[in-house]
Amino acid sequence: MIRMLLIGWLGLMVVEPNPSQLITETVRQELPALLKFYQELHRKPELSLFEKETAAKLAAEMRTIGFDVTENFGGFGIVCMLRNGEGPTVLYRTDMDGLPVVEKTGLPYASEYHMKDADDIENRTMHACGHDMHMTVWLGTAKTLSAMRGTWSGTAIFIGQPAEEIGAGAKMMLQAGLYEKFPVPDYGVGLHSSPDIPAGKVGFGKGFTMARAESIDIKVFGRGAHGASPHKSIDPIVLASLMVMDFQTIVSRSVDPVESAVLTVGSIHGGTKHNIIPDEVTMQITLRTFKDDVRKLMHRRIREIARGVAISAGLPEDLHPEVIIPDQSTEPNFNDPILVDQMMGSATKILGDQNVVSASPQMVAEDFSRYGQTEHKIPTVLFWLGTIPKEREEAAKHGESIPALHSPFYFPDPEPSIETGVKVTSQILIDLFNSDQ
Ligand SMILES: [Zn+2]
Ligand SMILES: [Zn+2]
Repeated sequence: MIRMLLIGWLGLMVVEPNPSQLITETVRQELPALLKFYQELHRKPELSLFEKETAAKLAAEMRTIGFDVTENFGGFGIVCMLRNGEGPTVLYRTDMDGLPVVEKTGLPYASEYHMKDADDIENRTMHACGHDMHMTVWLGTAKTLSAMRGTWSGTAIFIGQPAEEIGAGAKMMLQAGLYEKFPVPDYGVGLHSSPDIPAGKVGFGKGFTMARAESIDIKVFGRGAHGASPHKSIDPIVLASLMVMDFQTIVSRSVDPVESAVLTVGSIHGGTKHNIIPDEVTMQITLRTFKDDVRKLMHRRIREIARGVAISAGLPEDLHPEVIIPDQSTEPNFNDPILVDQMMGSATKILGDQNVVSASPQMVAEDFSRYGQTEHKIPTVLFWLGTIPKEREEAAKHGESIPALHSPFYFPDPEPSIETGVKVTSQILIDLFNSDQ
């Protein structure tokens, strides 16, 4: 009798698959449709603030699987809600924008799309930052959660964010009232394609994982003259060059060597012709920092160096350089350490130990950081989804460099990246919904 009961009980155990098995099966079924969806997105990247068709495409898909969809929320942002009983509210964000890059991957589904930007300039566009991968994983996870409603309870808020590449979209959605018009989430989750981690794996960092990004403009003035009469000029091209060189000493000689900081002069423009000394040069700088005091020190040194070079050239006060440091910047991303542990546990459960890695901080920036930095202090985590194709991983072992994000040659290996992304994110969300708060 006891034996029969035991066999019966074991039988029940076998019949009832665990959520991880269910997720894996659901993802396998959805994979062909998701691959197709990914390629369609990849062919048609829309620039920041112009994500109209991309957002409409996502909204339509989300409606068919039972989400309540609000469109045009903070630009072309979309907010999709699935209420599934009592339980935590979890926010999961994807970004939607592409970049003004001419794709050179040679893929059969490479983008040949082009569109006008905010300055009315026609650009070829490319999903060179993998946001098409983010959207596909996001949709796949929504499909899995929708199909597995019986295994979790809570409220899922899936948002499609515009304008990540210009650091504006998260702010636009928050200012439109994301946390006032919709439930305030208990957790916030996002992922980004990694150009360093192989497809099939995911990476997590704790604490500050991405830097604050600031865009600084400098106008360097001088006195123009004929190129053959430099003694009659104060040459702003020479002054700007001196500044570029002096700026290099800020990180190497002013910032504490145990802190992280980057100063890159990414653009320098001046003059019109070989033989004319112009009267103005403009420079664009990106600053990357984690700490406020480091950032303020760098601001001060940039101003001091710019002014010092002008004084040494004998420029009058009214022609001293103009250093424009905007109030706004993309905040550094902070991954809540407790939430990271929880999410790594979920990832390990479905992917296995060997496919969940620790990731070092990077000086790139992401405006996902903003969702955790409102007065609500929501714990948030942005993790890395490995995307490197096998062939590139092999080539890298022989010293070849792997294209970085924003490179015209970057591409994720779609199938394993999508499959891994959907599996891990579905498991993370289901575990969060079913966790005790
Ligand atoms: Zn990017
Ligand atoms: Zn990105």
